[in-house]
Amino acid sequence: DKPLPVLLRETVEKYPENIATEFFGAKLTYRELWDRIQRFAHALRDLGVTKDTKVAIMLPNCPQTIIAYYATLWVGAVVVMTNPMYVEREMEHQWSNSEAEVVVVLDHLFPKVQKVLPETRIRKVIVTSLREYLPAPVRWLYPLKAKKQKLFTAVPYDGKDILNFSKLVEKSTADNPPCPAALDDLALLQYTGGTTGVSKGVMLIHRNILANVVQICAWFPDVRRGSERVVAILPFFHVFGMTVSMNLALYAGSTVILVPRFEVNEFLKVLHKSRPTLFPGVPTIYVAIVNHPKIKDFDISSIRYCITGSAPMPVEVLKKFEQITGGVIVEGYGLSEAGPVTHVNPFVGKRKPGSIGIPLPDTDYRIVDLETGTQVLPPGEEGELVVKGPQVMLGYWKMPQETEATLRNGWLYTGDIAKADSEGYVFIVDRKKDMIIAGGYNIYPREIDEVLYEHPKILDAVTVGVPDPYRGETVKAFVVPKPGETVTEKEVIDFCRTKLAAYKIPRAVEFRESLPKTMVGKILRKDLRAEELRKKE
Ligand code: ATP
Repeated sequence: DKPLPVLLRETVEKYPENIATEFFGAKLTYRELWDRIQRFAHALRDLGVTKDTKVAIMLPNCPQTIIAYYATLWVGAVVVMTNPMYVEREMEHQWSNSEAEVVVVLDHLFPKVQKVLPETRIRKVIVTSLREYLPAPVRWLYPLKAKKQKLFTAVPYDGKDILNFSKLVEKSTADNPPCPAALDDLALLQYTGGTTGVSKGVMLIHRNILANVVQICAWFPDVRRGSERVVAILPFFHVFGMTVSMNLALYAGSTVILVPRFEVNEFLKVLHKSRPTLFPGVPTIYVAIVNHPKIKDFDISSIRYCITGSAPMPVEVLKKFEQITGGVIVEGYGLSEAGPVTHVNPFVGKRKPGSIGIPLPDTDYRIVDLETGTQVLPPGEEGELVVKGPQVMLGYWKMPQETEATLRNGWLYTGDIAKADSEGYVFIVDRKKDMIIAGGYNIYPREIDEVLYEHPKILDAVTVGVPDPYRGETVKAFVVPKPGETVTEKEVIDFCRTKLAAYKIPRAVEFRESLPKTMVGKILRKDLRAEELRKKE
Protein backbone atom coordinates (compact mmCIF):
# COMPACT_ATOMS: atom_id res chain seq x y z
CA ASP A 1 0.00 0.00 0.00
CA LYS A 2 2.78 2.42 -0.90
CA PRO A 3 3.29 4.30 -4.15
CA LEU A 4 5.49 2.49 -6.69
CA PRO A 5 8.57 4.76 -6.34
CA VAL A 6 8.61 4.04 -2.59
CA LEU A 7 8.42 0.30 -3.32
CA LEU A 8 11.24 0.66 -5.82
CA ARG A 9 13.42 2.11 -3.07
CA GLU A 10 12.67 -1.00 -0.99
CA THR A 11 13.67 -3.22 -3.92
CA VAL A 12 16.91 -1.25 -4.21
CA GLU A 13 17.62 -1.87 -0.52
CA LYS A 14 17.03 -5.59 -1.06
CA TYR A 15 19.09 -6.06 -4.23
CA PRO A 16 21.49 -3.09 -4.42
CA GLU A 17 24.11 -4.85 -6.55
CA ASN A 18 21.71 -6.71 -8.89
CA ILE A 19 21.63 -5.45 -12.45
CA ALA A 20 18.54 -3.28 -12.98
CA THR A 21 19.04 -2.32 -16.63
CA GLU A 22 21.04 -3.65 -19.57
CA PHE A 23 21.33 -1.44 -22.59
CA PHE A 24 23.46 -3.03 -25.31
CA GLY A 25 26.14 -4.04 -22.86
CA ALA A 26 25.88 -0.99 -20.57
CA LYS A 27 24.66 -2.06 -17.15
CA LEU A 28 23.26 -0.16 -14.17
CA THR A 29 22.86 -1.84 -10.80
CA TYR A 30 19.77 -1.08 -8.72
CA ARG A 31 21.93 1.17 -6.54
CA GLU A 32 23.25 3.10 -9.55
CA LEU A 33 19.81 3.42 -11.08
CA TRP A 34 18.34 4.68 -7.81
CA ASP A 35 21.15 7.20 -7.39
CA ARG A 36 20.37 8.66 -10.82
CA ILE A 37 16.62 8.71 -10.11
CA GLN A 38 17.19 10.64 -6.90
CA ARG A 39 19.59 13.08 -8.55
CA PHE A 40 17.18 13.71 -11.38
CA ALA A 41 14.33 14.18 -8.88
CA HIS A 42 16.45 16.79 -7.16
CA ALA A 43 17.09 18.53 -10.47
CA LEU A 44 13.36 18.55 -11.25
CA ARG A 45 12.61 20.18 -7.91
CA ASP A 46 15.28 22.81 -8.63
CA LEU A 47 13.49 23.54 -11.90
CA GLY A 48 10.29 24.24 -9.96
CA VAL A 49 8.57 20.90 -10.55
CA THR A 50 6.22 20.21 -7.65
CA LYS A 51 3.19 18.10 -6.87
CA ASP A 52 0.83 18.05 -9.89
CA THR A 53 3.28 19.61 -12.39
CA LYS A 54 2.92 17.69 -15.67
CA VAL A 55 6.21 16.32 -17.00
CA ALA A 56 6.17 14.91 -20.54
CA ILE A 57 8.62 12.12 -21.36
CA MET A 58 9.23 11.61 -25.06
CA LEU A 59 11.81 8.85 -25.17
CA PRO A 60 12.18 5.32 -26.50
CA ASN A 61 13.10 2.54 -24.06
CA CYS A 62 16.44 3.52 -22.54
CA PRO A 63 17.71 4.07 -18.96
CA GLN A 64 16.76 7.76 -19.09
CA THR A 65 13.07 6.86 -19.50
CA ILE A 66 13.06 4.88 -16.25
CA ILE A 67 15.05 7.60 -14.48
CA ALA A 68 12.76 10.42 -15.65
CA TYR A 69 9.58 8.41 -14.92
CA TYR A 70 10.44 7.41 -11.35
CA ALA A 71 12.01 10.81 -10.53
CA THR A 72 8.82 12.58 -11.64
CA LEU A 73 6.67 10.26 -9.52
CA TRP A 74 9.06 10.65 -6.58
CA VAL A 75 8.51 14.43 -6.46
CA GLY A 76 4.75 13.88 -6.63
CA ALA A 77 4.46 15.27 -10.17
CA VAL A 78 2.44 13.72 -13.03
CA VAL A 79 4.00 11.78 -15.90
CA VAL A 80 2.74 12.30 -19.46
CA MET A 81 4.25 9.60 -21.68
CA THR A 82 4.62 10.82 -25.27
CA ASN A 83 5.20 8.61 -28.29
CA PRO A 84 8.53 9.61 -29.90
CA MET A 85 7.02 8.88 -33.32
CA TYR A 86 4.48 11.66 -32.91
CA VAL A 87 4.40 14.43 -35.49
CA GLU A 88 3.97 18.08 -34.46
CA ARG A 89 0.16 18.04 -34.54
CA GLU A 90 -0.04 15.06 -32.17
CA MET A 91 2.57 16.47 -29.77
CA GLU A 92 0.81 19.79 -29.65
CA HIS A 93 -2.55 18.14 -28.89
CA GLN A 94 -1.10 16.06 -26.08
CA TRP A 95 1.00 18.76 -24.43
CA SER A 96 -1.48 21.58 -24.62
CA ASN A 97 -4.28 19.29 -23.46
CA SER A 98 -2.23 17.94 -20.53
CA GLU A 99 -0.75 21.37 -19.67
CA ALA A 100 2.75 19.88 -19.56
CA GLU A 101 5.40 22.32 -18.30
CA VAL A 102 8.56 20.25 -18.72
CA VAL A 103 9.54 17.79 -21.42
CA VAL A 104 12.36 15.24 -21.47
CA VAL A 105 13.24 14.43 -25.05
CA LEU A 106 15.76 12.63 -27.24
CA ASP A 107 18.28 14.83 -29.07
CA HIS A 108 17.25 14.02 -32.62
CA LEU A 109 13.61 14.80 -31.80
CA PHE A 110 14.45 18.23 -30.42
CA PRO A 111 14.07 20.14 -33.74
CA LYS A 112 10.46 18.98 -34.11
CA VAL A 113 9.73 19.62 -30.42
CA GLN A 114 11.02 23.16 -30.75
CA LYS A 115 8.42 23.95 -33.41
CA VAL A 116 5.46 23.25 -31.12
CA LEU A 117 6.77 24.85 -27.91
CA PRO A 118 5.08 28.25 -28.46
CA GLU A 119 1.68 26.51 -28.60
CA THR A 120 2.21 24.82 -25.21
CA ARG A 121 3.01 25.77 -21.60
CA ILE A 122 6.36 23.99 -21.73
CA ARG A 123 9.06 26.14 -20.16
CA LYS A 124 11.93 23.66 -19.74
CA VAL A 125 13.19 21.13 -22.25
CA ILE A 126 15.62 18.48 -21.01
CA VAL A 127 17.51 16.88 -23.88
CA THR A 128 19.28 13.55 -23.77
CA SER A 129 20.98 11.22 -26.18
CA LEU A 130 20.97 7.44 -26.42
CA ARG A 131 24.74 7.75 -26.73
CA GLU A 132 25.00 8.97 -23.12
CA TYR A 133 24.09 5.52 -21.84
CA LEU A 134 25.60 3.40 -24.60
CA PRO A 135 29.14 2.02 -24.46
CA ALA A 136 29.45 2.42 -28.27
CA PRO A 137 27.14 3.66 -31.03
CA VAL A 138 24.50 1.15 -32.08
CA ARG A 139 23.91 2.39 -35.59
CA TRP A 140 20.68 0.60 -36.45
CA LEU A 141 18.94 2.49 -33.63
CA TYR A 142 19.14 5.80 -35.35
CA PRO A 143 16.85 6.99 -38.12
CA LEU A 144 18.72 7.89 -41.29
CA LYS A 145 18.23 11.61 -40.77
CA ALA A 146 19.80 11.50 -37.32
CA LYS A 147 22.78 9.61 -38.75
CA LYS A 148 23.32 12.42 -41.23
CA GLN A 149 23.13 14.98 -38.43
CA LYS A 150 26.02 13.16 -36.73
CA LEU A 151 24.27 13.08 -33.40
CA PHE A 152 26.40 10.30 -32.00
CA THR A 153 28.60 12.80 -30.25
CA ALA A 154 27.90 14.76 -27.06
CA VAL A 155 24.57 16.55 -26.69
CA PRO A 156 25.08 20.21 -27.59
CA TYR A 157 22.14 21.44 -25.55
CA ASP A 158 22.99 23.13 -22.27
CA GLY A 159 21.33 26.45 -21.53
CA LYS A 160 18.83 28.11 -19.24
CA ASP A 161 15.63 26.60 -20.60
CA ILE A 162 17.10 23.87 -22.75
CA LEU A 163 19.05 21.60 -20.47
CA ASN A 164 21.26 18.60 -20.76
CA PHE A 165 19.97 15.48 -18.97
CA SER A 166 23.34 14.06 -17.94
CA LYS A 167 24.68 17.37 -16.73
CA LEU A 168 21.60 17.84 -14.56
CA VAL A 169 22.11 14.38 -13.08
CA GLU A 170 25.83 14.99 -12.49
CA LYS A 171 25.32 18.38 -10.88
CA SER A 172 22.53 17.38 -8.48
CA THR A 173 22.74 15.51 -5.23
CA ALA A 174 20.74 12.46 -4.26
CA ASP A 175 19.22 14.20 -1.22
CA ASN A 176 15.47 14.52 -1.45
CA PRO A 177 12.58 14.87 0.95
CA PRO A 178 10.33 11.79 1.15
CA CYS A 179 7.96 11.08 -1.75
CA PRO A 180 4.88 13.26 -1.08
CA ALA A 181 2.52 11.22 -3.28
CA ALA A 182 -0.45 9.45 -1.70
CA LEU A 183 -2.14 6.46 -3.31
CA ASP A 184 -5.12 8.54 -4.43
CA ASP A 185 -2.98 11.22 -6.11
CA LEU A 186 -2.74 11.52 -9.86
CA ALA A 187 0.36 9.72 -11.17
CA LEU A 188 -0.12 9.72 -14.92
CA LEU A 189 -2.01 11.23 -17.78
CA GLN A 190 -1.79 8.23 -20.08
CA TYR A 191 -3.05 9.02 -23.56
CA THR A 192 -4.94 6.22 -25.33
CA GLY A 193 -3.54 4.68 -28.50
CA GLY A 194 -5.89 6.62 -30.77
CA THR A 195 -6.74 3.44 -32.70
CA THR A 196 -10.38 4.39 -33.03
CA GLY A 197 -10.31 8.17 -32.86
CA VAL A 198 -8.77 11.07 -30.99
CA SER A 199 -6.36 10.12 -28.21
CA LYS A 200 -7.80 10.80 -24.69
CA GLY A 201 -5.86 11.54 -21.49
CA VAL A 202 -6.57 8.75 -19.02
CA MET A 203 -6.13 9.81 -15.38
CA LEU A 204 -4.34 7.01 -13.55
CA ILE A 205 -3.70 7.47 -9.84
CA HIS A 206 -0.86 5.83 -7.89
CA ARG A 207 -3.28 3.17 -6.64
CA ASN A 208 -4.16 2.18 -10.22
CA ILE A 209 -0.61 1.57 -11.39
CA LEU A 210 0.41 -0.15 -8.16
CA ALA A 211 -2.68 -2.40 -8.18
CA ASN A 212 -2.08 -3.59 -11.72
CA VAL A 213 1.55 -4.47 -11.01
CA VAL A 214 0.60 -6.47 -7.91
CA GLN A 215 -2.30 -8.19 -9.71
CA ILE A 216 -0.18 -9.28 -12.68
CA CYS A 217 2.74 -10.33 -10.49
CA ALA A 218 0.40 -12.64 -8.58
CA TRP A 219 -0.52 -14.25 -11.91
CA PHE A 220 2.96 -15.54 -12.74
CA PRO A 221 3.38 -18.99 -11.19
CA ASP A 222 6.95 -18.75 -9.95
CA VAL A 223 8.44 -15.31 -10.47
CA ARG A 224 11.98 -15.59 -9.17
CA ARG A 225 12.34 -12.34 -7.25
CA GLY A 226 15.65 -10.70 -8.00
CA SER A 227 16.65 -13.01 -10.85
CA GLU A 228 14.25 -12.79 -13.80
CA ARG A 229 15.43 -11.19 -17.05
CA VAL A 230 12.68 -9.20 -18.75
CA VAL A 231 13.11 -8.14 -22.36
CA ALA A 232 11.52 -4.70 -22.73
CA ILE A 233 10.63 -4.43 -26.41
CA LEU A 234 7.16 -3.00 -25.75
CA PRO A 235 7.47 0.77 -25.60
CA PHE A 236 7.23 2.23 -22.10
CA PHE A 237 5.19 5.14 -23.45
CA HIS A 238 2.34 2.68 -24.10
CA VAL A 239 0.48 1.52 -21.01
CA PHE A 240 1.13 -2.20 -21.58
CA GLY A 241 4.93 -1.82 -21.82
CA MET A 242 4.94 0.68 -18.97
CA THR A 243 3.15 -1.65 -16.55
CA VAL A 244 4.46 -5.06 -17.52
CA SER A 245 7.95 -4.48 -18.97
CA MET A 246 9.01 -1.61 -16.70
CA ASN A 247 6.99 -1.32 -13.47
CA LEU A 248 6.37 -5.02 -12.90
CA ALA A 249 9.93 -5.95 -13.88
CA LEU A 250 11.45 -3.48 -11.41
CA TYR A 251 8.93 -4.40 -8.70
CA ALA A 252 10.18 -8.00 -8.96
CA GLY A 253 13.85 -6.91 -8.84
CA SER A 254 14.47 -8.21 -12.37
CA THR A 255 16.99 -7.13 -14.96
CA VAL A 256 15.29 -5.05 -17.64
CA ILE A 257 16.84 -5.60 -21.08
CA LEU A 258 16.10 -2.34 -22.86
CA VAL A 259 15.34 -2.38 -26.59
CA PRO A 260 14.42 1.03 -28.02
CA ARG A 261 13.11 -0.03 -31.42
CA PHE A 262 11.70 -3.18 -33.03
CA GLU A 263 13.63 -4.49 -35.98
CA VAL A 264 13.16 -8.23 -36.25
CA ASN A 265 16.75 -9.21 -37.25
CA GLU A 266 18.34 -7.08 -34.55
CA PHE A 267 15.76 -8.13 -31.99
CA LEU A 268 16.46 -11.82 -32.59
CA LYS A 269 20.15 -11.11 -31.97
CA VAL A 270 19.22 -9.42 -28.67
CA LEU A 271 17.08 -12.41 -27.61
CA HIS A 272 19.84 -14.85 -28.56
CA LYS A 273 22.54 -12.92 -26.72
CA SER A 274 20.78 -11.56 -23.66
CA ARG A 275 18.88 -14.73 -22.66
CA PRO A 276 15.63 -13.24 -21.33
CA THR A 277 13.30 -15.35 -19.20
CA LEU A 278 10.16 -13.18 -19.51
CA PHE A 279 9.03 -11.67 -22.79
CA PRO A 280 5.93 -9.46 -22.75
CA GLY A 281 4.91 -8.80 -26.35
CA VAL A 282 2.18 -8.07 -28.84
CA PRO A 283 0.95 -10.25 -31.71
CA THR A 284 2.83 -8.42 -34.51
CA ILE A 285 6.14 -9.08 -32.77
CA TYR A 286 5.44 -12.79 -32.28
CA VAL A 287 4.20 -13.01 -35.90
CA ALA A 288 7.44 -11.48 -37.19
CA ILE A 289 9.53 -13.90 -35.10
CA VAL A 290 7.75 -17.12 -36.08
CA ASN A 291 7.83 -16.15 -39.77
CA HIS A 292 11.51 -15.17 -39.79
CA PRO A 293 13.27 -17.25 -42.47
CA LYS A 294 16.36 -17.81 -40.29
CA ILE A 295 14.64 -18.38 -36.95
CA LYS A 296 16.49 -21.68 -36.51
CA ASP A 297 19.83 -19.84 -36.37
CA PHE A 298 18.83 -18.18 -33.09
CA ASP A 299 18.58 -19.79 -29.69
CA ILE A 300 15.61 -18.24 -27.92
CA SER A 301 14.96 -21.13 -25.58
CA SER A 302 15.71 -19.07 -22.45
CA ILE A 303 12.16 -17.64 -22.64
CA ARG A 304 9.96 -19.16 -19.92
CA TYR A 305 6.87 -16.98 -19.98
CA CYS A 306 5.29 -14.57 -22.42
CA ILE A 307 2.24 -12.43 -21.99
CA THR A 308 0.56 -11.00 -25.07
CA GLY A 309 -2.17 -8.40 -25.30
CA SER A 310 -3.25 -5.19 -27.04
CA ALA A 311 -4.72 -6.97 -30.03
CA PRO A 312 -6.03 -10.46 -30.87
CA MET A 313 -3.35 -13.15 -30.99
CA PRO A 314 -3.77 -15.56 -33.93
CA VAL A 315 -3.94 -19.07 -32.43
CA GLU A 316 -1.58 -20.52 -35.07
CA VAL A 317 1.12 -18.03 -34.14
CA LEU A 318 0.77 -18.78 -30.44
CA LYS A 319 1.26 -22.52 -31.05
CA LYS A 320 4.28 -22.02 -33.32
CA PHE A 321 5.95 -19.62 -30.89
CA GLU A 322 5.59 -22.10 -28.03
CA GLN A 323 7.11 -24.85 -30.18
CA ILE A 324 10.12 -22.66 -30.97
CA THR A 325 10.84 -21.45 -27.44
CA GLY A 326 9.45 -24.21 -25.24
CA GLY A 327 8.01 -21.42 -23.08
CA VAL A 328 4.41 -20.68 -22.20
CA ILE A 329 2.56 -17.79 -23.80
CA VAL A 330 -0.69 -16.50 -22.41
CA GLU A 331 -3.06 -14.02 -23.94
CA GLY A 332 -4.44 -11.21 -21.86
CA TYR A 333 -6.51 -8.13 -22.40
CA GLY A 334 -6.49 -4.58 -21.23
CA LEU A 335 -6.99 -0.95 -22.05
CA SER A 336 -5.33 2.30 -21.00
CA GLU A 337 -8.40 3.06 -18.88
CA ALA A 338 -7.56 0.08 -16.63
CA GLY A 339 -3.86 0.54 -16.20
CA PRO A 340 -4.19 -1.69 -18.48
CA VAL A 341 -4.67 -5.40 -17.68
CA THR A 342 -8.03 -6.82 -16.54
CA HIS A 343 -8.06 -10.39 -17.93
CA VAL A 344 -5.40 -13.02 -18.61
CA ASN A 345 -5.35 -16.75 -19.31
CA PRO A 346 -3.84 -18.71 -16.44
CA PHE A 347 -0.21 -19.81 -16.81
CA VAL A 348 -1.05 -22.95 -14.90
CA GLY A 349 -4.47 -24.45 -15.41
CA LYS A 350 -6.72 -24.20 -18.39
CA ARG A 351 -5.72 -21.83 -21.16
CA LYS A 352 -8.24 -21.34 -23.92
CA PRO A 353 -6.89 -20.39 -27.33
CA GLY A 354 -8.63 -17.34 -28.73
CA SER A 355 -9.81 -16.28 -25.26
CA ILE A 356 -8.48 -13.41 -23.16
CA GLY A 357 -8.86 -15.60 -20.08
CA ILE A 358 -10.36 -14.83 -16.70
CA PRO A 359 -10.27 -11.69 -14.56
CA LEU A 360 -7.21 -10.80 -12.48
CA PRO A 361 -7.57 -10.94 -8.67
CA ASP A 362 -9.87 -8.21 -7.32
CA THR A 363 -11.35 -7.62 -10.77
CA ASP A 364 -14.99 -8.10 -11.69
CA TYR A 365 -16.59 -8.18 -15.09
CA ARG A 366 -19.96 -8.48 -16.78
CA ILE A 367 -21.24 -8.78 -20.31
CA VAL A 368 -24.13 -6.36 -20.79
CA ASP A 369 -26.54 -5.72 -23.64
CA LEU A 370 -25.36 -3.27 -26.28
CA GLU A 371 -28.48 -1.14 -26.32
CA THR A 372 -29.02 -0.10 -22.71
CA GLY A 373 -25.79 -1.35 -21.15
CA THR A 374 -27.65 -2.44 -18.03
CA GLN A 375 -29.01 -5.93 -18.65
CA VAL A 376 -26.46 -8.61 -17.69
CA LEU A 377 -26.27 -11.30 -20.38
CA PRO A 378 -25.85 -15.04 -19.76
CA PRO A 379 -22.84 -17.09 -21.01
CA GLY A 380 -22.69 -17.41 -24.78
CA GLU A 381 -24.41 -14.12 -25.55
CA GLU A 382 -22.53 -11.23 -27.10
CA GLY A 383 -22.59 -7.83 -25.45
CA GLU A 384 -20.31 -5.08 -24.16
CA LEU A 385 -17.58 -6.03 -21.70
CA VAL A 386 -17.68 -3.89 -18.54
CA VAL A 387 -15.08 -4.17 -15.78
CA LYS A 388 -14.49 -3.04 -12.21
CA GLY A 389 -11.34 -3.12 -10.07
CA PRO A 390 -8.64 -1.10 -8.29
CA GLN A 391 -6.80 -0.60 -11.59
CA VAL A 392 -9.67 1.34 -13.21
CA MET A 393 -8.97 5.01 -13.97
CA LEU A 394 -10.34 8.09 -12.26
CA GLY A 395 -11.70 9.41 -15.56
CA TYR A 396 -10.58 11.22 -18.72
CA TRP A 397 -8.65 14.43 -18.21
CA LYS A 398 -10.83 17.43 -18.99
CA MET A 399 -13.48 15.31 -20.74
CA PRO A 400 -16.41 15.06 -18.31
CA GLN A 401 -18.90 13.85 -20.91
CA GLU A 402 -16.67 11.02 -22.13
CA THR A 403 -15.95 10.11 -18.51
CA GLU A 404 -19.65 9.94 -17.72
CA ALA A 405 -20.30 7.76 -20.76
CA THR A 406 -17.42 5.40 -19.95
CA LEU A 407 -17.61 5.12 -16.15
CA ARG A 408 -21.16 4.22 -15.14
CA ASN A 409 -22.17 3.10 -11.63
CA GLY A 410 -18.60 2.12 -10.87
CA TRP A 411 -18.21 0.03 -14.06
CA LEU A 412 -15.81 0.80 -16.89
CA TYR A 413 -17.51 0.39 -20.28
CA THR A 414 -14.72 -0.93 -22.49
CA GLY A 415 -16.29 -0.42 -25.92
CA ASP A 416 -15.40 -4.03 -26.74
CA ILE A 417 -17.95 -6.66 -27.69
CA ALA A 418 -17.34 -9.94 -25.91
CA LYS A 419 -18.94 -13.16 -24.73
CA ALA A 420 -18.20 -15.41 -21.79
CA ASP A 421 -18.36 -19.20 -21.69
CA SER A 422 -19.85 -21.29 -18.88
CA GLU A 423 -16.47 -21.35 -17.07
CA GLY A 424 -16.19 -17.56 -17.10
CA TYR A 425 -13.52 -17.33 -19.83
CA VAL A 426 -14.02 -14.25 -21.95
CA PHE A 427 -13.73 -14.06 -25.74
CA ILE A 428 -13.38 -10.68 -27.43
CA VAL A 429 -15.60 -10.58 -30.48
CA ASP A 430 -14.64 -7.15 -31.75
CA ARG A 431 -14.65 -3.47 -30.98
CA LYS A 432 -18.05 -1.83 -31.01
CA LYS A 433 -16.69 0.80 -33.38
CA ASP A 434 -15.31 -1.75 -35.88
CA MET A 435 -18.51 -3.71 -36.35
CA ILE A 436 -19.65 -3.84 -39.98
CA ILE A 437 -23.36 -3.80 -40.77
CA ALA A 438 -23.95 -5.30 -44.21
CA GLY A 439 -27.46 -5.86 -45.51
CA GLY A 440 -28.78 -5.87 -41.93
CA TYR A 441 -26.26 -8.44 -40.66
CA ASN A 442 -23.77 -7.60 -37.92
CA ILE A 443 -20.33 -8.70 -39.06
CA TYR A 444 -17.31 -8.77 -36.79
CA PRO A 445 -14.23 -8.17 -38.96
CA ARG A 446 -11.99 -9.97 -36.47
CA GLU A 447 -13.62 -13.30 -37.35
CA ILE A 448 -12.77 -12.80 -41.02
CA ASP A 449 -9.22 -11.67 -40.19
CA GLU A 450 -8.68 -14.91 -38.23
CA VAL A 451 -9.73 -16.94 -41.29
CA LEU A 452 -7.38 -14.99 -43.55
CA TYR A 453 -4.46 -15.66 -41.16
CA GLU A 454 -5.07 -19.39 -41.62
CA HIS A 455 -4.27 -19.10 -45.34
CA PRO A 456 -0.75 -20.49 -45.87
CA LYS A 457 0.30 -17.70 -48.27
CA ILE A 458 -0.94 -14.77 -46.17
CA LEU A 459 1.35 -12.88 -43.80
CA ASP A 460 -0.90 -10.07 -42.59
CA ALA A 461 -4.55 -9.25 -43.20
CA VAL A 462 -7.36 -7.02 -42.08
CA THR A 463 -10.95 -6.45 -43.16
CA VAL A 464 -12.94 -3.23 -43.03
CA GLY A 465 -16.47 -2.16 -43.86
CA VAL A 466 -16.67 -0.03 -47.01
CA PRO A 467 -19.76 1.91 -48.15
CA ASP A 468 -22.06 0.04 -50.50
CA PRO A 469 -25.15 1.51 -52.18
CA TYR A 470 -27.28 -1.63 -51.70
CA ARG A 471 -26.05 -3.28 -48.52
CA GLY A 472 -25.03 -0.16 -46.57
CA GLU A 473 -21.57 -1.61 -46.11
CA THR A 474 -19.64 -4.53 -47.55
CA VAL A 475 -16.49 -6.29 -46.46
CA LYS A 476 -13.16 -5.47 -48.06
CA ALA A 477 -9.95 -7.32 -47.21
CA PHE A 478 -6.45 -5.86 -47.26
CA VAL A 479 -3.88 -8.61 -47.58
CA VAL A 480 -0.08 -8.80 -47.36
CA PRO A 481 1.23 -12.04 -48.93
CA LYS A 482 4.18 -13.86 -47.34
CA PRO A 483 7.56 -13.01 -48.92
CA GLY A 484 8.01 -14.77 -52.26
CA GLU A 485 4.34 -15.84 -52.45
CA THR A 486 1.67 -14.67 -54.85
CA VAL A 487 -1.98 -15.04 -54.15
CA THR A 488 -4.98 -13.91 -56.18
CA GLU A 489 -8.23 -12.24 -55.16
CA LYS A 490 -10.14 -15.35 -56.29
CA GLU A 491 -7.98 -17.63 -54.13
CA VAL A 492 -8.63 -15.47 -51.08
CA ILE A 493 -12.38 -15.30 -51.66
CA ASP A 494 -12.64 -19.06 -52.41
CA PHE A 495 -10.73 -19.80 -49.21
CA CYS A 496 -13.15 -17.66 -47.18
CA ARG A 497 -16.12 -19.42 -48.81
CA THR A 498 -15.08 -22.70 -47.23
CA LYS A 499 -15.01 -21.16 -43.77
CA LEU A 500 -17.54 -18.34 -43.53
CA ALA A 501 -21.22 -17.68 -44.19
CA ALA A 502 -21.87 -15.93 -47.51
CA TYR A 503 -22.66 -12.50 -46.04
CA LYS A 504 -19.23 -12.35 -44.33
CA ILE A 505 -17.14 -13.10 -47.43
CA PRO A 506 -15.02 -10.15 -48.60
CA ARG A 507 -16.36 -8.66 -51.83
CA ALA A 508 -13.01 -7.10 -52.70
CA VAL A 509 -9.40 -7.87 -51.86
CA GLU A 510 -6.55 -5.41 -52.13
CA PHE A 511 -2.93 -6.53 -51.90
CA ARG A 512 -0.41 -4.39 -50.06
CA GLU A 513 3.23 -4.57 -49.03
CA SER A 514 2.37 -3.63 -45.46
CA LEU A 515 -0.56 -2.45 -43.35
CA PRO A 516 -0.77 0.79 -41.34
CA LYS A 517 -0.19 0.05 -37.65
CA THR A 518 0.15 1.83 -34.33
CA MET A 519 3.38 1.62 -32.35
CA VAL A 520 2.18 -1.49 -30.55
CA GLY A 521 1.24 -3.14 -33.80
CA LYS A 522 -2.51 -2.59 -33.86
CA ILE A 523 -3.75 -2.39 -37.40
CA LEU A 524 -5.28 1.02 -38.05
CA ARG A 525 -8.61 -0.01 -39.56
CA LYS A 526 -9.81 3.56 -39.25
CA ASP A 527 -7.07 4.76 -41.67
CA LEU A 528 -7.93 2.12 -44.27
CA ARG A 529 -11.60 2.90 -43.92
CA ALA A 530 -10.93 6.63 -44.27
CA GLU A 531 -9.01 5.90 -47.51
CA GLU A 532 -12.00 3.98 -48.84
CA LEU A 533 -14.41 6.77 -47.86
CA ARG A 534 -12.22 9.32 -49.65
CA LYS A 535 -12.24 7.14 -52.78
CA LYS A 536 -16.05 7.14 -52.78
CA GLU A 537 -16.31 10.92 -52.45
P1 ATP B 1 -8.28 4.52 -28.63
O1 ATP B 1 -9.01 4.14 -27.37
O2 ATP B 1 -7.76 5.92 -28.59
O3 ATP B 1 -8.96 4.16 -29.91
P2 ATP B 1 -6.70 2.11 -28.24
O4 ATP B 1 -8.00 1.42 -28.06
O5 ATP B 1 -5.69 1.49 -29.14
O6 ATP B 1 -6.92 3.64 -28.68
P3 ATP B 1 -5.51 1.16 -25.86
O7 ATP B 1 -5.96 1.48 -24.49
O8 ATP B 1 -4.08 1.06 -26.15
O9 ATP B 1 -6.09 2.25 -26.81
O10 ATP B 1 -6.14 -0.24 -26.32
C1 ATP B 1 -7.21 -0.90 -25.69
C2 ATP B 1 -7.97 -1.77 -26.66
O11 ATP B 1 -7.12 -2.78 -27.24
C3 ATP B 1 -9.09 -2.57 -26.04
O12 ATP B 1 -10.23 -1.78 -25.84
C4 ATP B 1 -9.30 -3.67 -27.07
O13 ATP B 1 -10.11 -3.24 -28.15
C5 ATP B 1 -7.90 -3.92 -27.61
N1 ATP B 1 -7.32 -5.16 -27.02
C6 ATP B 1 -6.48 -5.26 -25.98
N2 ATP B 1 -6.13 -6.55 -25.75
C7 ATP B 1 -6.79 -7.30 -26.66
C8 ATP B 1 -6.87 -8.72 -26.96
N3 ATP B 1 -6.16 -9.61 -26.29
N4 ATP B 1 -7.67 -9.09 -27.97
C9 ATP B 1 -8.38 -8.19 -28.68
N5 ATP B 1 -8.34 -6.85 -28.47
C10 ATP B 1 -7.56 -6.41 -27.48
